[in-house]
Amino acid sequence: MEPNQELNTPTFRLAVAQFEEAADRLGLDRNLRERLKLPQRTLIVSVPVRMDDGTVKVFMGYRVQHDTALGPSKGGIRFHPGVSLGEVAALAMWMTWKCALVGLPYGGAKGGIRVAPETLSRGELQRLTRRYTAEIAPLIGPEKDIPAPDVGTNAQIMAWMMDTYSQQAGYAVPGVVTGKPLAIGGSLGREEATGRGVVDVIMEAVRHLGLEMSTVTAAIQGFGNVGMHTARILHEGGAKVIAVSDAKGGVFNGGGLDIPTLRARYQHHARPLHECGVGEFISNEDLLKLECTILIPAALSEQITEKNAGKVRCRILAEGANGPTTLEADRILEEKGVFIIPDILANSGGVIVSYFEWVQDVQKYFWKEPDIRGRLHEIITAAFWRTIEFSKARKVGMRMAALMSGIDKIAQAHLARGLYP
Ligand code: NAD
Repeated sequence: MEPNQELNTPTFRLAVAQFEEAADRLGLDRNLRERLKLPQRTLIVSVPVRMDDGTVKVFMGYRVQHDTALGPSKGGIRFHPGVSLGEVAALAMWMTWKCALVGLPYGGAKGGIRVAPETLSRGELQRLTRRYTAEIAPLIGPEKDIPAPDVGTNAQIMAWMMDTYSQQAGYAVPGVVTGKPLAIGGSLGREEATGRGVVDVIMEAVRHLGLEMSTVTAAIQGFGNVGMHTARILHEGGAKVIAVSDAKGGVFNGGGLDIPTLRARYQHHARPLHECGVGEFISNEDLLKLECTILIPAALSEQITEKNAGKVRCRILAEGANGPTTLEADRILEEKGVFIIPDILANSGGVIVSYFEWVQDVQKYFWKEPDIRGRLHEIITAAFWRTIEFSKARKVGMRMAALMSGIDKIAQAHLARGLYP
């Protein structure tokens, strides 16, 4: 079965091409392959919102569940003008492999609204979030499908989603979303979790390659939730962060950026990064070509392509973002000997701590921060070393090893459960 027109976007084609290659190498059951290439459920909603000027604007929203063989589906909500059904479906597929790879009892999902959130007032954003939640309510729930933050969304948006769902249920249902504020059942350590996980696996890779953290330099594309916390924790760990960027460009200092000062001055995006007085302007394109030990794309997908991969000059590529590297770029980087920590491994700290948050909500018993950090470290570093072993045993690169491990677990679950009816 071929995907329909709306699914057929570059990001979806990338996810399917990765899947096909992994499925070939695994010798995956042909029938299962047809099913896993497509999402299990997709919901498209139109979201009418009363704007502050009294007019009504309608936004397109999506929720896609790629697979639920292992448990409830899990995945973030993206508010961005580039959101499409194909992009959301690709991100949902990656969530399935990611959860399976690190051993969480979840399937994969993703959602989003095609909107530029920074153009809305707080009231408009709240009404948009609440109406979207009401539209996707039949699909979500603590036992069914659990959203979380992604690009353009944050703890406040999760709080409005949790409240809308709870108002309809008639009682508080904190387990319906993760990445919530602490006041309503959020978890300590969730906000920084993706960045902390990125740094945990970077430290293992640095050790694996016989390097030293004190001599490491890092360039980071994206200074939002993932990029900013990755920069902060790397800096605290003694690495030199030489460049960071956001959608408007970035800032560079070959001697290492003063990240705490940059964070303080950049708070609430009050001014552009390069006007924060910690380095000189650098474009996003040039940042990707900087000579550094570790390059960390932590913004959007398809940033490293066949056009610029030849000019990438890092030793390690740690993918904070989902799908930042195209298939062609992957081959170029592998030929150059770049050590890739693939997205579904590198950025899995977010969903791992989301899982902890959900467990705490369901059990109504909350953990201390060292427990969260310790268990995150244990799970993500174990997944890193399992992927290294798989990659050696099957003589494949790290990306293929991670994908094959995740896909194989899902395949085993499907084969054990059988085909209904
Ligand atoms: P965010 O909205 O907090 O930050 C995104 C950052 O990317 C911002 O700094 C933005 O200015 C920048 N950006 C946007 N367009 C850009 C462009 N064209 N060039 C350069 N920078 C650009 O989002 P986030 O939560 O940090 O997510 C970033 C990436 O990490 C996404 O791919 C997301 O799917 C992935 N991810 C996020 C989480 C999480 O827990 N938030 C977990 C796993 C993976």
